[in-house]
Amino acid sequence: MVKHISELSGEQKSELINIFGPRVNFKKRERHYYGHDIGTLPSLVKPMLGKSEPAAVAKVENENEAVKLVNFANKYNIPVVPRAGASSGYGGVIPTKGGIVADITTMNQIQDVNHENLKATVGAGIRWERLEKKLNNQGLSVQALPTSAPSSTVGGWLAQNGIGFGSFEYGWSQNTMESARVVLPTGEVKEFSGDQIKNLTGTMGTTGIISQITLKLRNYEDTKGISAEFKDAESLKKAIHSADEQNIPLWSVTFLNPNWVDLKNKTPEKHQHGRSDKTPNPELPMAYVCNFLYPESRENDVKPLKDIIQNSGGKVLPDKIADHEINESYKSMKIKRLGPSFIPAEVLVPLENMDRVFEEINNNIDLPVLVEGMMSNDGYVVLLCFMRHSERSLKFNTAFPLSLSIVNIAEKYGGRIYSSGLYFAQKAESVFADNYRDIQNFKNQHDPNDLMNPETLTGKSGLNTAISLGEKFEPLGRMIGNKSGIGSEKFTKEEKGIPPEITELAYSCSQCGYCVSECDQYYGRGWESQSPRGKWFFIKEYLAGRDDLDQEQTNTFLSCTTCEMCDTRCELNMPIEQSWRKLRPKLVQEKEMMTIPPFEIMAQSLLKERNIWANYMKNRADWIPEDLKEKISGESKYGYFAGCTASFVEKDIAVGTARMLDDADIDFTVLGDKESCCGIPMLMAGKWDVFEKIMKMNISNMKSKGVETVITSCPACWMMWHDVYPEWAEKLGIEYNFEVKHYSEVLVDKLDVLKPKLKEPLNKVVTWHDSCHIGRAGGVYEPPRQLLKSVPGIEFKELENNRDEAHCCGSVMTLVADPPVAHKVANIRLDEAKDVNADVVATLCPCCLVQFRTAVDEYNLNMDIQDLGAIVARSLGYDIPDSTQDTLDAWLTFDKMIELLQPQNMADMMEELMPEMMEAMPSYLKPMMKSVKYVPGMDALMKPMMPKMMPILMPSIMPKVMPSMLKAVEKRVPMPDYIKEQMPDLMPKAMENLMPNMLPQLIPYLTPKMIEYIKKN
Ligand SMILES: Cc1cc2nc3c(=O)[nH]c(=O)nc-3n(C[C@H](O)[C@H](O)[C@H](O)COP(=O)(O)OP(=O)(O)OC[C@H]3O[C@@H](n4cnc5c(N)ncnc54)[C@H](O)[C@@H]3O)c2cc1C
Ligand code: SF4
Ligand code: SF4
Repeated sequence: MVKHISELSGEQKSELINIFGPRVNFKKRERHYYGHDIGTLPSLVKPMLGKSEPAAVAKVENENEAVKLVNFANKYNIPVVPRAGASSGYGGVIPTKGGIVADITTMNQIQDVNHENLKATVGAGIRWERLEKKLNNQGLSVQALPTSAPSSTVGGWLAQNGIGFGSFEYGWSQNTMESARVVLPTGEVKEFSGDQIKNLTGTMGTTGIISQITLKLRNYEDTKGISAEFKDAESLKKAIHSADEQNIPLWSVTFLNPNWVDLKNKTPEKHQHGRSDKTPNPELPMAYVCNFLYPESRENDVKPLKDIIQNSGGKVLPDKIADHEINESYKSMKIKRLGPSFIPAEVLVPLENMDRVFEEINNNIDLPVLVEGMMSNDGYVVLLCFMRHSERSLKFNTAFPLSLSIVNIAEKYGGRIYSSGLYFAQKAESVFADNYRDIQNFKNQHDPNDLMNPETLTGKSGLNTAISLGEKFEPLGRMIGNKSGIGSEKFTKEEKGIPPEITELAYSCSQCGYCVSECDQYYGRGWESQSPRGKWFFIKEYLAGRDDLDQEQTNTFLSCTTCEMCDTRCELNMPIEQSWRKLRPKLVQEKEMMTIPPFEIMAQSLLKERNIWANYMKNRADWIPEDLKEKISGESKYGYFAGCTASFVEKDIAVGTARMLDDADIDFTVLGDKESCCGIPMLMAGKWDVFEKIMKMNISNMKSKGVETVITSCPACWMMWHDVYPEWAEKLGIEYNFEVKHYSEVLVDKLDVLKPKLKEPLNKVVTWHDSCHIGRAGGVYEPPRQLLKSVPGIEFKELENNRDEAHCCGSVMTLVADPPVAHKVANIRLDEAKDVNADVVATLCPCCLVQFRTAVDEYNLNMDIQDLGAIVARSLGYDIPDSTQDTLDAWLTFDKMIELLQPQNMADMMEELMPEMMEAMPSYLKPMMKSVKYVPGMDALMKPMMPKMMPILMPSIMPKVMPSMLKAVEKRVPMPDYIKEQMPDLMPKAMENLMPNMLPQLIPYLTPKMIEYIKKN
């Protein structure tokens, strides 16, 4: 039998690196993120799981790699645990015996779509949502899919088995699948088709790694729905039964019990920056609410359903409720926002007995049981039951056995647990029924050592014994559980520096994973720690004392690009990006962690010259065209705020904006050299003290110009003026009455004036990139499109992901933190532009322009990245020079500086400064340093002393070596004169701020260089 493997040998690691390259991870901290699933065990039970952390995580891209992985595992007898969306809760992705977690989500290609036979062959790791979107674009659709479609995968559903939307018509997951290719535990590849699929279904990765699946499809149609309320489960049952008997051609039947409805009505709506962007949720009646879904073309055939509902004692609900429920299809865990924790139980019962099951649950369980039901086509209904609780309360332990009571009730009425898995291994026979023996035989024959996902189907002895005992003494457990009450928790106190509202969200997060795949911080880097789900998990682990908040972890919060994609994807409507934003100053200012190093230099530039490009404040207004200077220098109702990048680097943005406003007859003013950066870089770098200073300056200068409406060109400036400044102004007691608009919002109202003047055509295919800070954060989607489309000659193409779904360019934090990752993220976005054969990618954000232009340069792409304002102004007949080269030149300094601030590169540079550093050492230390050269073993003694000595010595050494350091920096970083001139002012303070946190990273590189130097000199 396979042993527990918690670490791999050097040789084994090398072999895995040979197979997966950078797609394998051995870092202890990262592995910790791959040791759990969505379930939460009670604190007294959890230890029975043992140490469930893999020794490595490998991202498998294709079947060939899966074969190599399984062969490797066989060679060394190492367990392999397939993991896809990790949205399941039966322990199937938990590596209870360590080994290698095989992340399947990278095996996600669509290999073939056959329109005639209505089949699609796909990589097993493709997410349902992505597949469905691609198929819908081709007029096709899958037959059925789980409600976790935004995160779960095709392979995961077959491996876990289940029912979902569409199961009322098409049945269980395996019925909608034609065949599957599997890498068996022996390393052979076998195709399971027809009836054989049953031996694979629900085996949770124990049969092998499913690499490819051929799905059955249907033609795409809009989904329509009828929602109805029923006073009790009996009338609901009657309606479903009659609909089935009368062959009403429904695709899906799902329902909620009144407890679920009650909580759903209370869940908060989505709020972006204090605004709700959606129409309020309609109130659901406190009843059993059932949604009957069908394809649009069956409208007439479904009509009799309304009579059936009424005859069964139900009532048809208004269409707006049905529409709302369809929109909320994939948000079944939404109610967990008010959890914070849930005790789950999921059972399958015959529809025939459903009402009696409900009755018995109501009579026997004192905690409110929230139930979501989903019908299959075989007369069975799945009841997903949750009881609200708090996992940190001790009562969670005593209330948890109530889930066994629900299973007991289901069994009493001919039902069973939905899935067996790690926790209910003793029930595997009832779950797999006729296939049980075949599955066991197959496993014994192909995997006698239990290499593939060990213990998942056989269970973990201590844990299963405890659960079996719990079942035996279920009446007692129920009695105690019923007395436990809801262990609700009030989150009122800050804990370990985490504000209470963030702690609450961390415990509410369902770990569903909807936020993972579309987070650019995640897909740029590829590891769970970088995803929002991972960060919530970390916070819980940190609060529980199982992980530390160090610089590495701090960086995961600081590296978030602030794109707000997670906020739009979260089914719980959690304010995720805002939470990381709140944490930034906590980490940087309160916990004194290091911000992303280049931001320290930017901060000094901001404090000195009020811009991030280390240029001179006096040059800030140089962009203003001569003929406009006088016109826009006075007071006005409208104030154009250009921002740093448009003022100093991509001046075409500022000039273009001014030209458009002027041609549209808008009288406006600018702050000129009184303008400061909007402050967003400091807000996101966690340096809120610097942010506050410049924000105050901007507000006061704008007021002194008599401005009522602030117009911005930059989305980040827009977000600051529109959302963040008012919030801060209120907090600081500053009067703030500005209306804030992007120029596109102002100009669409003036198109009657502007449009006739747009004469120069742009005969190109142009696509549009929505920028996050004005798109998802502000909902300004249509005005820029309208403006762009007004330019004659343009053939406009939308990118595949647009508006709320638009992918981030990867700029802001990632470009400054990790340029190669930023370029990768940009390239993913630019691939979409290639797909629509765009000549020009137009956008309105200076940062997106920098990001895309540097990526185009890096990857040598044939693509033109242009600013909307510049495009429009050129069409108005102005000669607006292209700023691409200015962007690249300005970025080069940043790029080289970022590179230099990497610990290893800093150490290399300091090697050059070694003579000055030695000279700068306090005199009492010099003899000891010299002894390294003469006394054997002294170098070994010195190594451990360095981490203690250097932080003490550095503050006195640094000023002395600074002149040489500045020269060394100049050698490595190409700089325009204005930056060179300012470096003596900027660098010392930046270094002073960076050194305390940077030194621990520097010392491992610096110490050997220092010892080497002393020995030689
Ligand atoms: C909000 C929400 C809604 C849900 N709705 C439904 C629903 O409607 N119906 C339903 O049935 N379930 C539902 N679930 C549970 C879960 O989403 C499903 O079981 C889903 O199919 C799991 O897919 P996954 O890709 O996340 O797989 P994972 O959770 O990653 O894995 C599940 C099991 O399959 C194995 N596995 C995964 N991929 C492979 C592979 N390629 N080869 C071999 N083994 C593999 C894993 O080892 C594991 O044992 C829901 C969960 C959530 C959070
Ligand atoms: S804001 Fe964007 S980058 Fe940040 S966590 Fe959310 S999705 Fe990821
Ligand atoms: S943050 Fe939201 S979307 Fe992400 S895992 Fe948690 S609940 Fe799911």
